[in-house]
Amino acid sequence: MKDNYCKLQQKLSQNENLSRDDIKTIMQIIRKQINFMIKNNIIITPKNYERWFYVFCHITENSLDLNDLEILGVFKEIYNAPYDEIKEKSPEDLQIKQKGIVKKLVRIADTIEYKLAEVIATLDSHNHSLDSHKNEIAQDEEYIEDQKLKETLQKILDELEKLRHENEMLSSELRKYHADVIRLQGELMTARTEAEIDFLTGLLNRRRFERALLEMLNEYQRRGYPFALILLDIDDFKSINDTYGHPAGDQLLKEVALILKTFLRANNIAARLGGEEFAILVPGATAKEGEIIANRLRSAMEHRNFIDLEKDIHITASFGVTAPHTDDTIDTILERADKALYEAKKQGKNRVVIVE
Ligand code: GH3
Ligand code: MG
Ligand code: MG
Repeated sequence: MKDNYCKLQQKLSQNENLSRDDIKTIMQIIRKQINFMIKNNIIITPKNYERWFYVFCHITENSLDLNDLEILGVFKEIYNAPYDEIKEKSPEDLQIKQKGIVKKLVRIADTIEYKLAEVIATLDSHNHSLDSHKNEIAQDEEYIEDQKLKETLQKILDELEKLRHENEMLSSELRKYHADVIRLQGELMTARTEAEIDFLTGLLNRRRFERALLEMLNEYQRRGYPFALILLDIDDFKSINDTYGHPAGDQLLKEVALILKTFLRANNIAARLGGEEFAILVPGATAKEGEIIANRLRSAMEHRNFIDLEKDIHITASFGVTAPHTDDTIDTILERADKALYEAKKQGKNRVVIVE
């Protein structure tokens, strides 16, 4: 890792005192970082958290306006490696871990919020006593004859007035900042309470997926940043359940998720939409590139023996692929992908159909 990318990090590691601006910057970094990590399906482990803090510190300090792909590029540049290291943990572990981290973040935000409220209250009371001191001095001034002393007192009065004004500015800035922290607390609470992960497979659930899809759609419509959407539905899953039992079916769903995690790049988003239906978002890809990726997955599933099971069960899946249109909503793009998937089933299953 290179160490001249983030001045704040150096300050933090040398335990230097942080200025108000520093704290403000830290808040900005954290907010951007958390949004990015959730959006890109990056698990918030302490190590990932620290690494991405550094990346967003660099971006924020240099006021860079980057899209997600460019941000991934910054990561690569700093760490000289891709960032995917989230493999093979059980979803239960991940969920507990995620909850733990979010809890810690909530605690940090709570502490900051409490301290801020305290500082604001102290400032207010300082200003109050500054006011009364000023009035006392102003009253005294009337009885003073000595010109020199009078001038000195006037200077003190001016200084007090300046101090008061500065305090007021600081106080109003802190109030704004306080409102920010309260908003962050809200966001963290949402992250804690909103279930975003499918329990069985550890992939994103439908709700989280739809949010990611909406974000990508916006990004496409605003900046022309492309992506491919792939839907995947396991073939004849009902008969697999009927033949081998529901628990074996569940095990298969986990294995399919594992294939997705293994074969997809880390910035791809994989979700279980429900039942035996999955969805994948591939940022930066055209529909044609999505088709190639879908075919790779199709072949991986077809040729894999599910060795964890008592019997080697052979499964296949059908895929529908599409890419966004400028006037798409989540509903219309999902409908198009669904149509492609339906076509794949109709043509005999175990295949990829693309509808552009
Ligand atoms: P097709 O090739 O047309 O997709 O046929 P299919 O049998 O896969 O599709 P269908 O929609 O008829 O059946 C889906 C089955 O998936 C029915 C249901 O029992 C099973 N299923 C849904 N959710 C789960 C789950 O969480 N675990 C298990 N084991 N099975 C599930
Ligand atoms: Mg099916
Ligand atoms: Mg289905």
